[in-house]
Amino acid sequence: MRRFLLAAAAALLATQSFAEASAQAPAPPKLLVVISIDQFSANLFDEYRPQFTDGMARLATGTVFRNGFQSHAMTETCPGHSTMLTGDHPSRTGIIGNTWIDQSIGRSDKTVYCVEDETQPGTSSIAYKVSPKHLLVPTLGELMKSKWPGSRTVAVSGKDRAAVMMSGQRPDQRWYWNGKTFDTDLQQAGVPQTILKARAAIAAALSQPLPPLEPTPYCQGKERPIAVTGGGKPVGTGHFGRAANDLSAFRASPEIDGDTLAIAAGLVDEMQLGRRADPDLLAISLSATDYVGHTYGTEGEEMCLQLTELDRELGDFLKLLDSRGINYAVVLTADHGGKDIPERERLAGVNDAARVDPALSPATMGKALVARLGLPGGPGLMGDSSFGDIYIDRRLRANERAALLKAAVAAYRAHPQVEAVFTARKIADTPVPATPPETWSLIQRVRASYYQGRSGDFYVVLKRDVTPIADTTRSVATHGSVWDYDRRVPILFWRPQATGTTIEHSAETTDIMPTLASMIGLQIQPGFVDGHCLKDVPGTSCPAR
Ligand SMILES: [Zn+2]
Repeated sequence: MRRFLLAAAAALLATQSFAEASAQAPAPPKLLVVISIDQFSANLFDEYRPQFTDGMARLATGTVFRNGFQSHAMTETCPGHSTMLTGDHPSRTGIIGNTWIDQSIGRSDKTVYCVEDETQPGTSSIAYKVSPKHLLVPTLGELMKSKWPGSRTVAVSGKDRAAVMMSGQRPDQRWYWNGKTFDTDLQQAGVPQTILKARAAIAAALSQPLPPLEPTPYCQGKERPIAVTGGGKPVGTGHFGRAANDLSAFRASPEIDGDTLAIAAGLVDEMQLGRRADPDLLAISLSATDYVGHTYGTEGEEMCLQLTELDRELGDFLKLLDSRGINYAVVLTADHGGKDIPERERLAGVNDAARVDPALSPATMGKALVARLGLPGGPGLMGDSSFGDIYIDRRLRANERAALLKAAVAAYRAHPQVEAVFTARKIADTPVPATPPETWSLIQRVRASYYQGRSGDFYVVLKRDVTPIADTTRSVATHGSVWDYDRRVPILFWRPQATGTTIEHSAETTDIMPTLASMIGLQIQPGFVDGHCLKDVPGTSCPAR
């Protein structure tokens, strides 16, 4: 961010005057800024809240729901981002996971990525064409456009799936890191100057090595090497020094968040967001916290440095918005929580923390069951992980599928690392709950992640504190579980006149959309979305429930 954002800010400040702060009750915001911090668990927010001094500290002076929930079971990036600006659980957005299996598609790869168009010839779930077609409900930006034709929606992220889920169909600008550069799926005449400048600045920065970060005393206190089982390198002492052109190090470091925020800030200026009669929406998803969590775990010096830098980058970004005199409101939340590596958790007294038994992978389990039942060849079971949705090979006959389902459910249930297994029929028969999310049973959580035609034949829930990664050569920690360390996320609402209220009762990420809608005077009919307007947030006039 500092590299080119602040230079741009200084240039603009020279020609623009500050807006006078109004003494009256604030008018509805003209720019809604929705910030998602990928994998920013409520546990991390609680831990670091006293350490924040800049942007995060400012946002924490707003209305803070410290018990926010991504209420559903499959706590992954795509479902989590799908809830934020649609107001719906994945059972309505249709985004049941980052991927799912569709055995009816013509290509050999039956895995479908949540933001791809799998009907495009020559594509796969890895080499895909980005598309919002799987998101089945409108986003806030789309509803704003139907009320206010001049309203603009802009999304920027380190991940395509985050940008697409927050902006839905036909936003005005949508930019995400594609592994090499910032890219879009939108058909449009030209590329904004902001993007051209950012691409050049990032390419130039990447061509040079980056020196390690200087840790704060708090972060230095976390410096402790931890050995990881499963082939991965030790973690706990990383300082984010980067070799020239090391793209994976770039992504798992504060650097990419700074660039994402710089692009967002550049588009605010270039498009004059928040400065017209009709309100605009700017959705930003900051991905580095997630990559840092996966690469190093959540309780080491690396995450500490990441969150320290993020605090500062967010501060710079908010100061820039202030300097433009824009009437804006901010929401900050996360797509899911996360947990630390089991090796460090055990040192902290979490005695049951463990890595998953590789025997639970659908491929291994399917092979064993196919042999035991004497079924014809094929995988038997299909699924992308040792938990969540698992599918029965539909090329088997009906009686074979029934026998395999029965045997698979029994085999998973018998495993000591498995908490529960639910069949699709049992899940479909469960109503989507409307009670507070912390009271939901396991099957209710799974129901909120269920969408018929995309979900599996059965759903496996691992025991609490089981990390579903056995081979740690690429990733050491993850999220995705039904447990609250993965479901509980902060939800912060902030406006310039914020008074500072921390709220203990729960809220859901599905509540963000109807709350923002109320703030800008957009009517959402009761029952139109799963979420509810949060009356604790200043500037709302929520309908009676
Ligand atoms: Zn995520």
